[in-house]
Amino acid sequence: MTMNIPYLDLKRVTALHGEEIQQAVAEVVGSGWYLQGRALHQFEMNYAKFIGTKHCVGVANGLDALTLTLRAYKEMGKMQEGDEVLVPANTFIATVLAITENRLKPVFVDVEEETLDLNLEMLRRAITPKTKALMLVHLYGRCTYNEAIGRLCEQNGLLLIEDNAQAHGCRWRGRRTGSLGDVACHSFYPGKNLGALGDGGAVTTEDVELAEMIRTIANYGFSEKYVATKQGRNSRLDEVQAAVLDVKLKYLDEENERRAKLARIYYNNVENEAVQLPKMMNEGENVYHIFPVFVEERDRLKTYLAEKGIGTLIHYPIAPHQQECYAEYRGIEMPVTERLARKELSLPLNPTMTEEEAKWVAEMVNSFGGRNVEYQ
Ligand SMILES: *Cc1c(COP(=O)(O)O)cnc(C)c1O
Repeated sequence: MTMNIPYLDLKRVTALHGEEIQQAVAEVVGSGWYLQGRALHQFEMNYAKFIGTKHCVGVANGLDALTLTLRAYKEMGKMQEGDEVLVPANTFIATVLAITENRLKPVFVDVEEETLDLNLEMLRRAITPKTKALMLVHLYGRCTYNEAIGRLCEQNGLLLIEDNAQAHGCRWRGRRTGSLGDVACHSFYPGKNLGALGDGGAVTTEDVELAEMIRTIANYGFSEKYVATKQGRNSRLDEVQAAVLDVKLKYLDEENERRAKLARIYYNNVENEAVQLPKMMNEGENVYHIFPVFVEERDRLKTYLAEKGIGTLIHYPIAPHQQECYAEYRGIEMPVTERLARKELSLPLNPTMTEEEAKWVAEMVNSFGGRNVEYQ
């Protein structure tokens, strides 16, 4: 038996709500209004309500959401160039780019191997008088917030910034990620759990001053039309994307449940001593944006699965502190993150997959091996 299981087929993802999306797009096209209109306003209201914050500001993409947030805090006098921002070493590079773009200093903190949460001991030790914020990244869809993190930020006067690009809909004790800190940044890149048909992003917060500052900076620095109080830029979530996202938002919880069901199949069926799964989380605390497994012979497993028709990806092969563009950080050691980058392989998992397909993937993973493997 063979099955062709691509890592992610966006055509199929869109087709899940094809007609409704087509109709929403057609409405925008016919309206003659393509930016800063009703569709954006609707989506901002609905997304803020969904996340559980007072404010939502749509922006052009997730990196802009992060960059504009830090820029706004600088404009508000809450941080200044040269200040330090704590960031997990195990993240997508955009989290770090937002820090360095603002001439702030990223201070990397390694993660725990089993939970992928921040190493609390290291986090505590990394705090200096210059530390102003913690970027908390709910990587892979796993909520990485906990009481200790909240307390630590409070006691040290740190701003808690959530990077929620991979965790739309995730919950912690009933509250959504994206409402747990001072502010949260979201990406609607097509492959994310809530994905647009192009680029998109948003910031959610309770802080009205911050929300207004981000709106101003994202709109040429205009506090009112043609009155520039800041040296701003242009970062907008357009009407077509907002309308599409508003349709897809209605189905997000349902699709995340589907993801959880497929993840349970992996947890129940993958049994191969060479393949480690991350610690399973409580219901709702993981929206399974990515299903990572960790394997010493990662590249061999990737090729093996490809031969069986199963698509996989690596998130991410090079940690930010080891990238060429961050040569100044190459000397630092983040042993767990570096090991994860060497061992990580993402199995296919998305709402278009069937349970039969997930079982087949698990079976194929189980059939991998044969050679003596060494791992810790
Ligand atoms: C996708 C992603 C981003 C960047 O979002 P874009 O919309 O692609 O700019 C930032 N952080 C994380 C963790 C992401 O996964």
